[in-house]
Amino acid sequence: MSVPSAVMESSLRPGDRPGDRHGDWPVEEPMAAAGDDLDAGLEAVEGLEVDLLTLASIEAELDEVERALVRLDDGTYGRCEVCDTPLDEAELVDVPMARHCRDHRSTAPA
Ligand SMILES: [Zn+2]
Repeated sequence: MSVPSAVMESSLRPGDRPGDRHGDWPVEEPMAAAGDDLDAGLEAVEGLEVDLLTLASIEAELDEVERALVRLDDGTYGRCEVCDTPLDEAELVDVPMARHCRDHRSTAPA
């Protein structure tokens, strides 16, 4: 009754899932991503500019996550980097990578 997940995966074309294979794009051979599905390959190439913007934002987010992990290690996670005030738990649920309290969020560099 249930569809095997492998079948579901293979029905998705490259580029359909944000974050999919962003680490190892076939930059030198863009068409290699198409496999035997030329349409999917053309869509992938046409979407490249947008995907690069997406990639940049994903990389920025990844950087935030890595910073949060460092703060977890050194015990400063969940505290404002400016005034050391413990951040609101509900806010951390919303924005787990938050680094500043409400007072300092707008003034601190991004
Ligand atoms: Zn603060």
